[in-house]
Amino acid sequence: MSTEKYRKKLRDLQRQQEKVLRELLEVRPLLKGTVNKIYTRCGKPNCWCAAGPGGHAHIRISWNQNSKTVTRKIPADKLSRVRDLTDNYRHFRSLRRQLSELNKQIKQALDCYQIALIEDSRAGMPFLGLNTKNAAQLPNYLHKT
Ligand SMILES: [Zn+2]
Repeated sequence: MSTEKYRKKLRDLQRQQEKVLRELLEVRPLLKGTVNKIYTRCGKPNCWCAAGPGGHAHIRISWNQNSKTVTRKIPADKLSRVRDLTDNYRHFRSLRRQLSELNKQIKQALDCYQIALIEDSRAGMPFLGLNTKNAAQLPNYLHKT
């Protein structure tokens, strides 16, 4: 690829990065955890739950804290709020993964751009010796593309 193509690629990546970062900064507040519904029997022998299948429904939130799973019952009036905030958390994490992937791509494109740029810059200076363009010097991921 020519230096101009790398420059274009880097500008594209920067635009994508800005877009994802802008979106990420809008995602708040966050609550880490998974909401799920469980059914339990209360243990009272004359309760309806003793005979039928299932039991009393409880909506809970679980999250990891210091390598332990913590679970708490969610009051009914807080359920939609908790769902919104845990959705936010997952969205935030997904955007962070995208940013991390874009950073990786920017780093790779910069590595390639640097090599191409140095090659081009040496072109008019034969006193510098042989062209350094050499597959062995290219980063591994260049061989794949
Ligand atoms: Zn019961």
